[in-house]
Amino acid sequence: MNKVAIVTGGSRGIGAATSKLLASQGYAVCINYLARSEDAEKLAAEITADGGKVMTYAADVSEEADVIGLFDAAEKMLGPVTHLVNNAGILFTQSSLVDLSVERFNKVMLTNVTSCFLCSREAVKRMTQGGAIVNVSSVASRTGSPNEYVDYAASKGAMDTLTTGLSLEVADKNIRVNCVRPGFIHTEMHADGGEPGRVERLSPLIPMKRGGEPEEVANAIAWLLSDEASYVTGSFIDLAGGK
Ligand code: NAP
Repeated sequence: MNKVAIVTGGSRGIGAATSKLLASQGYAVCINYLARSEDAEKLAAEITADGGKVMTYAADVSEEADVIGLFDAAEKMLGPVTHLVNNAGILFTQSSLVDLSVERFNKVMLTNVTSCFLCSREAVKRMTQGGAIVNVSSVASRTGSPNEYVDYAASKGAMDTLTTGLSLEVADKNIRVNCVRPGFIHTEMHADGGEPGRVERLSPLIPMKRGGEPEEVANAIAWLLSDEASYVTGSFIDLAGGK
């Protein structure tokens, strides 16, 4: 079976490292992104230059029609989708819960949770020969991110629960569903939270005394997707330096 992977938010950070690694392992990769087409096209050009098979597709994965369009396009260009990484996610400026607007709360839920539900549903419908899904949650689902982004942490808690529930629903359909929970990874996301240097600030509090690299998360995602993890489903790998 040809391996065809969709990586949502695959153009930057953890998603980009994952897209690159999967392509190097022989997957045909569909890099999804929201708006920054230059980043996506640059990454696709790098992967192509290395001999990989890749396409890019702009879609807001919190929108049902966009998600169906994404899967249709990937299937048309690359073949039946066999693997999915639910990686796209957002957070907003650090704040305590009492200061959060309902608009922000709903936006975070739509982007982080509804997208995971929509893409997983579309994948399961199409993975008639089996497949594998990895959800990119966060250690925030355990810590709750007080005074930073409780909305984001709650969205990751929901992703954890989706992982458990769906993994049990499709276990006998040869579809595995697993989850990684990164923390303190060097990406641009922390700037969206208003603190580009957040990983450095928190490094002394991390048992391993350093932040993580996107490639370190990508390694775990790729393993969970691979046949080496053939008896692993409903499982969680934390990548947070011991936190
Ligand atoms: P990032 O560098 O900010 O990249 C985010 C990616 O998601 C970009 O490709 C972006 O596309 C895409 N995206 C955002 N909203 C989207 C939407 N509605 N539809 C489609 N794509 C969308 O993020 P990251 O730090 O690599 O994080 C990746 C995942 O890891 C997220 O789920 C995040 O919550 C999780 N995580 C990260 C950390 C960390 O320390 N960095 C820790 C724990 C968990 P554009 O480029 O077009 O904007």
